[in-house]
Amino acid sequence: MLVVKFGGTSVGKPERMKKIASLVQDMPGKKIVVLSALSGTTNALVRIGDHLMAQQHTGANNEINELEKHYMQFINELYTSESYKAIGEEIVSRYFSLFRLLAAGKFDDRSYRELLAQGELISTELFYHHLHEIKVSARLLPALHFMSIDENQEPELEKISERLKPILETLTTIDILVTQGYICRNHRNEIDNLKRGGSDYTASLIGAAIKAEEIQIWTDIDGMHNNDPRIVKKTIPIAELTFDEASELAYFGAKILHPSTIVPAQKFHVPVRLKNTMDEKAAGTIISDKGSRAQIKAIAAKDGITAIKIKSSRMLLAYGFLRKVFEVFERYKTPIDMISTSEVAVSVTIDENKQLDKILEELRTFGTIEVDDNQSIICIVGNMLSEKEGVLKEVFQSLANIPIRMVSYGGSPNNISILVSTKQKEAALNLLNEGLFKL
Ligand code: ADP
Ligand code: ASP
Ligand code: MG
Repeated sequence: MLVVKFGGTSVGKPERMKKIASLVQDMPGKKIVVLSALSGTTNALVRIGDHLMAQQHTGANNEINELEKHYMQFINELYTSESYKAIGEEIVSRYFSLFRLLAAGKFDDRSYRELLAQGELISTELFYHHLHEIKVSARLLPALHFMSIDENQEPELEKISERLKPILETLTTIDILVTQGYICRNHRNEIDNLKRGGSDYTASLIGAAIKAEEIQIWTDIDGMHNNDPRIVKKTIPIAELTFDEASELAYFGAKILHPSTIVPAQKFHVPVRLKNTMDEKAAGTIISDKGSRAQIKAIAAKDGITAIKIKSSRMLLAYGFLRKVFEVFERYKTPIDMISTSEVAVSVTIDENKQLDKILEELRTFGTIEVDDNQSIICIVGNMLSEKEGVLKEVFQSLANIPIRMVSYGGSPNNISILVSTKQKEAALNLLNEGLFKL
């Protein structure tokens, strides 16, 4: 069984949705098709939700009306016959009635999450009816029946697997099962989500839960590139990556994959293939246990990083000091990304500032604290970096004119991480592209 995921741009226009219907039909065997919301929809739902949270009903209603027009036009072009256009209209009206109902009631965090989930529910329903119109037999598999997260927001992979297996056993004669990316239920059985970009994660979780042959992530670019194509002019696709390499790139900002996508696939050794919906002949990227032995493969960058330096004379010869520091972050459920130490100080980075004030208050009892926000981690990923002579020299030569705040090397053979001010990120990515890839 294949799990194939199509992102927002792959379903964002009626002709694209028709194209993926034909792509899916041409794929041999059974497949679970995971869809995102149409491009722009989740952003629009976030804007509506923000307006409603702030009691700005006019702003919310204007957004709802605009979005409705977009969907009415979409179904008009997606469906050919009058009877299917009528089905499309009924679907769109139903969802937009719900939006207006949510907007009129008491709007809280729970209604916000329910609102965000509608993007994937509507895209899958529209796609499913398109398949019907073109006489392709398919079934809808409601993600809210099997996808769940626990009280720590972690997916419940075993439960997902237990729920999926019997459903799949009964659907033996259907080759195409369509389900929603991104959405799930939480430990209170409320509608929730896997965070922005979460449809990739859905595909990987399903792939792991059913031990699929392959997970395919179809998007608007021909695979993982060696650098961020939104920032660097000349980038090239990478044919092969190991799970470890892809995991580092996804975690450190390569937007093509949700940060956690690789984790479940790697656990169950299910290869992940990245493909381009606009150019299906392009090779894309295959991510697996094997990968190639090439050295530096790619660079990614993650913004919104805060660096915290704790300076303490008590650190001198004091074992147990780092444990105390880490316990503070643990208490506030805030993961640390980078760390570097000297005899009198330790610097760490975090990407989650919600609990920052409380964390700093506790850290001040250990010594003096310095905080730098608006930082970016630049992550250079490859194979056996430590075995390549001069790799650090090349990196530092490329970044000779960029002030570097922190460096982490040797934690794994796959990664060199460098912290710079976000203002310097664009220059740093371009300089590394020239210096390391000669592009
Ligand atoms: P989808 O809607 O299909 O999930 P995304 O916009 O989330 O698509 O991800 C694809 C985008 O990721 C590309 O269009 C590209 O701009 C961006 N991207 C960032 N870094 C990389 C990278 N290293 N390789 C490929 N794409 C990247
Ligand atoms: N629609 C969701 C988002 O825009 C999930 C996804 O597209 O992966 O974040
Ligand atoms: Mg995405």
